[in-house]
Amino acid sequence: MNVNPSTRVEEGPLDVPRIRADFPLLARTVHGKPLIYLDSANTSQKPSAVIDAVDNFFRHTNANVARAVHALGEEATSAYESTRDKLARFINAPSRNEIVFTSGTTQAINLVAYSYALPRLKPGDTILVTQMEHHANIVPWQLVCERSGAKLKVAPINEAGELIVERFVELLTPEVKLAAVAHVSNVLGTINPVASLSRECRKRGIPLLVDGSQAGPHLRIDIRALGCDFYALTGHKLFGPTGTGMLWARREHLDAMPPFFGGGEMIREVRFEGTTFADPPHKFEAGTPNIAGFVGLGAALDYVERIGFEKLAAHEGDLLAHATEAMRRVPGLRIIGEAAEKVPVISFLIEGAHAHDLATLLDHEGVAVRSGHHCAHPLMQFYGVAATLRASMAFYNTFDEIDAFIAAMARVRKLLA
Ligand code: PMP
Repeated sequence: MNVNPSTRVEEGPLDVPRIRADFPLLARTVHGKPLIYLDSANTSQKPSAVIDAVDNFFRHTNANVARAVHALGEEATSAYESTRDKLARFINAPSRNEIVFTSGTTQAINLVAYSYALPRLKPGDTILVTQMEHHANIVPWQLVCERSGAKLKVAPINEAGELIVERFVELLTPEVKLAAVAHVSNVLGTINPVASLSRECRKRGIPLLVDGSQAGPHLRIDIRALGCDFYALTGHKLFGPTGTGMLWARREHLDAMPPFFGGGEMIREVRFEGTTFADPPHKFEAGTPNIAGFVGLGAALDYVERIGFEKLAAHEGDLLAHATEAMRRVPGLRIIGEAAEKVPVISFLIEGAHAHDLATLLDHEGVAVRSGHHCAHPLMQFYGVAATLRASMAFYNTFDEIDAFIAAMARVRKLLA
């Protein structure tokens, strides 16, 4: 595969101060305090390279895609379509034509639910998910189950927040028509063993969809090595703009799937008697897309590729170890999710303090953490809690920020005592 010179990996260890200078927002203050942004699992901050790419697009290139023969139209189309090549390289897809642009993971999963699963489901069939799924990987399946008479089955997790793989495998019975699993849990940070789950699914002829929203920013994704059938990504967690994302699917699935949205851009020929459709991926991409957003996503992919996942993951692993150790020393703090394989996402509770109160007080200290159910009600039920706090890190976070967060927690706890 050709290495794009603009994405050649930088040498040496991760230069975090220099990286931080690439993210203008990280320099701001909140309530008069330096911002400590620990909510990257919710949405990541954006480097100047992304902001400039979007800005440049609107200043110099803006036109609609795939319609105009004029220079701007061609430039806009080529800038937009280049992100399809970058995404294909990013996930090691066999073909750019297997990359369907979507508004995010939610749209990608819904596309599979309505276009792939629904036409195949009948009463008695099941869809297998896990206890740790985000609502985006539960509700679309429930909706198509309701319409078809199929049922949802749930693979359990252990107390540490790891999928119980043997139980998952036992649940792969003949009536399972599709399995859908998060690559990484947004609440627990758990990395699921997708390659071995895929192997088990393939042995039984069961297609596997992987929700990669939380994996994209942390792990090198190689869908050929993972061996799954569908992979969904969201651009805004991957340092790109909101309203961008993708569905990767094996070509044979895309060929067999009917269109989901109808409209312009997805047709070959329209007659009132009937319409023929464009080849994949375009048959799933009706209407004018988020052109500038995808140009920005292309810049985001170049940016992380330039840093290199190995380097980025090494720093994140150190951050996770540092934060976990520091948090374990906080009296009354309970970490929820202690899987052996994790990305730097830590959910926690503090005895005697309501998660929302703590998050509000931390905000006044400049610390942005999320509190709530994190769109994972069934996981909250498993742990018997209504909400957790979640500190989620990215490669632009520092050890000093973690220490400052722990110090802020000690100060605000006194206020709640
Ligand atoms: N799955 C997971 C694991 C997520 O964390 C999220 C976003 N929080 C989604 C799906 C949905 O992503 P989006 O809202 O960008 O479509």
